[in-house]
Amino acid sequence: MKALVVGGGLGGVTAAVALRQVGWEVGVLERVPEFGEVGAGVGVMPNALRALAALGLADEVRRIGTPRVPGGIRDPRGRTLTRVDASHEDHVVAVHRADLHRVLRSALPPACLVTDTEVTDVDDLDADLVVAADGLRSRTRQALFPGMPQPVYTGTTAWRSVTRAVFPRDLGLGQTLGPGAEFGVLPLGDGRVCWYAATTAPAGGRSADELGEVRRLVADWHDPIPDLLDATPPEAVLRHDIHELAAPLPTYVRGRVALLGDAAHAMTPYLGQGACMAIEDAVVLAAVCARADDVAGALAEYDRQRRPRTQSMAKASRMLGRVGHKLRNPVLVKARDTAMRAVPPSIGLRGMARFMAWTPPSLSPDR
Ligand SMILES: Cc1cc2nc3c(=O)[nH]c(=O)nc-3n(C[C@H](O)[C@H](O)[C@H](O)COP(=O)(O)OP(=O)(O)OC[C@H]3O[C@@H](n4cnc5c(N)ncnc54)[C@H](O)[C@@H]3O)c2cc1C
Repeated sequence: MKALVVGGGLGGVTAAVALRQVGWEVGVLERVPEFGEVGAGVGVMPNALRALAALGLADEVRRIGTPRVPGGIRDPRGRTLTRVDASHEDHVVAVHRADLHRVLRSALPPACLVTDTEVTDVDDLDADLVVAADGLRSRTRQALFPGMPQPVYTGTTAWRSVTRAVFPRDLGLGQTLGPGAEFGVLPLGDGRVCWYAATTAPAGGRSADELGEVRRLVADWHDPIPDLLDATPPEAVLRHDIHELAAPLPTYVRGRVALLGDAAHAMTPYLGQGACMAIEDAVVLAAVCARADDVAGALAEYDRQRRPRTQSMAKASRMLGRVGHKLRNPVLVKARDTAMRAVPPSIGLRGMARFMAWTPPSLSPDR
């Protein structure tokens, strides 16, 4: 059986690895001329780490990712709103996207990856299965679901980067919530630190000095935020307006085509699960292909397993976004902070645990 994957992002490459592991012949068609050092950090949640473990890649990701450190949420003066200790089992492993992509690619023969190839019509592809992993602006989704609305701007712009300098290994993993802005810190395994900042802004805003824009938001916030910004080369700061596919698709499958990752369910980043869902999708797709008698049956099962989970994740992520940087009113900010201090961390984590408790299906055809 042969699959062609449209798009070689994290979702597409994971799908190729997983489908090869269940015996399929696979090719990935990617429009960029080469896979480069793109992106910043990605938080790999425990659920996605289990999916990577099913592919035999979790140990390598753990090796290059965040060491076991405490985490928590603070206010701009550094006062704790909620805390997670380092021994907590639901440990997030942040990695540089480029490193995660490299780990995934290392599990594929180079000939599987065809760059500089833009797919314009999936009907032209000679394969038993087409995996549309062509991202937020998926041309495949637009062609297969012409009546569905396009992704919408959520009103939030975000900056992301990774420091050049290294920081002490015990630097915590955390988030700081202020009025109208938030800042997040994800230490990487080699001591560099991935950070992000977010605020509400009109769509399309750009500055010649994006690092300066971040400083304007958070430079007087608690340590080590100013040091992290000082340790970041200005040219390494990425800015993205956050879009999401606000109207859920009625199905992730059309004929022999399965939509996967952002192409199927581009979501806001507040639960840190966008790429994690793409990785889960990939493992489930391979598992159902290993077991079903035909592609149609496999894809029906893929849709049945993935659509409810990813669409409820997208909804929960959107709701969570309402209580972060979107709050500007000082009374509401104070009420949020007071509520966060009052709720025991175990209760807050229980809400997250619901999403992180997922375990991957076996890739063996017998189970
Ligand atoms: C600010 C921000 C922070 C985020 N933080 C996190 C996080 O901490 N954790 C997390 O899990 N997720 C996070 N995400 C989400 C995550 O980045 C995405 O969900 C994830 O990268 C989606 O992967 P994908 O493979 O589906 O799509 P993409 O990574 O977009 O890949 C799509 C690929 O398809 C290619 N392509 C497109 N069209 C064609 C075509 N016609 N022919 C051939 N190739 C094509 C593109 O070049 C691209 O390589 C964040 C997103 C944002 C914006």
